[in-house]
Amino acid sequence: MAIAANLGFPRIGKNRELKRQIESYWQGETSVDALRAAGEQLRAEHWGLQVAAGIESVPVGDFSFYDHVLDTATMFGAVPERYLAYGEPGAFGSYFAMARGVAGPGGVAPLEMTKWFDTNYHYIVPELRRDTRFSLAWPKLLEEYREARRLGLPGRPVLLGPISLLRLSRAEHGAFDPLELLPRLLPAYQELLAGLAQAGAPVIQLDEPALAGDLPQGVIELFPSAYAALAEAAGQAGIFLASYFGSLAGQFEVLRRLPIRALHLDLVRAPRDLGELLALGVPESLSLSLGVVDGRNVWRTDLARALEPLRSATAAVGPDRVWVTPSCSLLHVPVRLEPERRLDPEIRGWLAFAVEKLEEVATLRRALEPGTATEDLFAASDAVADSRKDSGRRTRPEVQQRLQALTAGDAKRATPHEQRRSLQSERLKLPPLPTTTIGSFPQTPELRRLRAERRVGALSEEQYEEGIRGEIARVIRLQEEIGLDVLVHGEAERNDMVEYFGEQLEGFAVTAQGWVQSYGTRCVKPPIIYGDVRRAEPMTVKWLSYAQSLTDRPVKGMLTGPVTILQWSFVRDDQPRRDTCRQIALAIRDEVRDLEAAGIRAIQIDEPAFREGLPLRRDERDDYLAWAVECFRLATSGVSDETQIHSHMCYSEFNDIVDAIARLDADVISIEASRSDMALLRAFQDVRYPNEIGPGVYDIHSPRVPDAQEMAGHLRQALGVISPEQLWVNPDCGLKTRRFEEVVPTLRNMVAAARQVREETN
Ligand code: GLN
Ligand code: ZN
Repeated sequence: MAIAANLGFPRIGKNRELKRQIESYWQGETSVDALRAAGEQLRAEHWGLQVAAGIESVPVGDFSFYDHVLDTATMFGAVPERYLAYGEPGAFGSYFAMARGVAGPGGVAPLEMTKWFDTNYHYIVPELRRDTRFSLAWPKLLEEYREARRLGLPGRPVLLGPISLLRLSRAEHGAFDPLELLPRLLPAYQELLAGLAQAGAPVIQLDEPALAGDLPQGVIELFPSAYAALAEAAGQAGIFLASYFGSLAGQFEVLRRLPIRALHLDLVRAPRDLGELLALGVPESLSLSLGVVDGRNVWRTDLARALEPLRSATAAVGPDRVWVTPSCSLLHVPVRLEPERRLDPEIRGWLAFAVEKLEEVATLRRALEPGTATEDLFAASDAVADSRKDSGRRTRPEVQQRLQALTAGDAKRATPHEQRRSLQSERLKLPPLPTTTIGSFPQTPELRRLRAERRVGALSEEQYEEGIRGEIARVIRLQEEIGLDVLVHGEAERNDMVEYFGEQLEGFAVTAQGWVQSYGTRCVKPPIIYGDVRRAEPMTVKWLSYAQSLTDRPVKGMLTGPVTILQWSFVRDDQPRRDTCRQIALAIRDEVRDLEAAGIRAIQIDEPAFREGLPLRRDERDDYLAWAVECFRLATSGVSDETQIHSHMCYSEFNDIVDAIARLDADVISIEASRSDMALLRAFQDVRYPNEIGPGVYDIHSPRVPDAQEMAGHLRQALGVISPEQLWVNPDCGLKTRRFEEVVPTLRNMVAAARQVREETN
């Protein structure tokens, strides 16, 4: 019989219990033992939920106190020397030191963090040296597997495979290709696999998501011998090889011949992969895991449609060699729908979170069994599909018409930037090397209290708004006093830069508890886009007009861009992403124009997720960049020449998209640079950036207060590749995670640095 399996489960807990426990441990309020016990309890609970949903093979090892890539590197002893002072591999001391650094004198910076493929989950980048020695240094997976067995769980150990682990790692000083270390890493994996087999594991899942992107020459050739060695060590247990987020087309000649027991296909992202593999032929020893339930989105599965590939696979290889699964780990969706009682019932009926998705997997697997009654569930699924199709909530004819009526001119400013530049700097009365910040100011405990009290109804709307105005007035005064040139209102009214807009736009639903892990203990609640997007009324104008009324200096309007809103929401699956993005762009365009009409002279449209949307495969990238650029321009081109459009991006590798960034035609762009010691500037050596630009001169992710000398040095460095008329002075991201005690002296130093370098260039 076919098997209903899961690939990975959200680990943060349905009420973010893990977040609370870990943060309390960091505060020194929870002991090591208590934190370990909390982890154990959460694992048991999550396993229980999966079994109750009908899952017959449950992943073990997907739990993590911070990140599974960090876990894997740590298990194999890849802990850089400088962290070992805080504890042996696997001890919380060294583990959290790698994840978040240790503050204070004699402290240590954390390892780098970056995005997990095309998701908004961030992993810790392992750092390897040419002489890194691997060993089975931390028995985490063995212990968790034994724990699962003690509970009588039908568990299946899962871990990141060796080739993807190395592909995701960074060589110290970039001095070599981490894949060169594969021969030395394999014995450590072999030892672990042998141990798991001995502990009774029926099969072991190795994730190789690196397979779904563009594989550099030679990488696929590493698989046969590596997997031969791994399979030998796993012996009886056999290997379940999983890749997701993209197609394996072109790799099947190699993959199907590997000595593995099962191969997983992400049929949501790559529906044609099954046909390709079946056409080549599936060896008798190989089972197929078919990811037919979308692990990246929140819509209920159309069961009848999902059943089709399962049936063709069953016909080809027989029911005993089919696994029914979600397309990827469910890490990227909320735990369950149950707490969402405030959602519109019709829309709620369209949704499935992790637990509901597993129920769908179980239903599909039962439907493969002759004589099992699943008709009711299929009928219900058909009814949902029909209800979505016919629902009036989904379509708004006026939005469709507006999209249809767009012309090329709508995505273009009236004149080129050179012309706009002089008009703007005259109107804004800016000095050379103008100073500004990225938008948010510290979110103080008082501010959080204000929001919490409003949520529970302890404050009237009026009292709340008065509180926010007080905060705005405070940061305006502060910025004037520090001497910044372009001010911001501070974003006190926003919980989150996407959710804030999701709450106000039509076509969006927001959840109460729909948390998804972003990195470590940080979670976000992505809004759900279910229908055509429309802005019912101005969203930010009230706050910005108030801020501008307090000062003669320009206050910069602050909006989240269409690509970032799209990227950080769950999007509809009934129309292409680009169309949804265009609709959002039009809503933002209306807001931009209203801000302009209210006297706001500079408006920033943040696009920190612009690069994250880049498809994993190179041949799909130009297409994405074309529509993403167009959407940004649609949002920003409705203003007059005198209105200055800013944008901001961060956490990104820019070098390969500098062209696209130039095509955004923002008057000013601020980008992260200081963390990589201005390495970003290299991108501007070859491509002359045409508009104005502010490479961040200090790292807001650290509590450190850099002095004016240091920041002046960064500015001088920037002047090596950027002309003085183009250069802006700003931090590298918003200040909301910092404290005023750090922010105020740093901004004073930043202004001093700007003044100093201004004099030198005059
Ligand atoms: N304007 C936002 C802020 O300052 C930008 C945040 C971001 O880049 N992620 O907080
Ligand atoms: Zn940023």
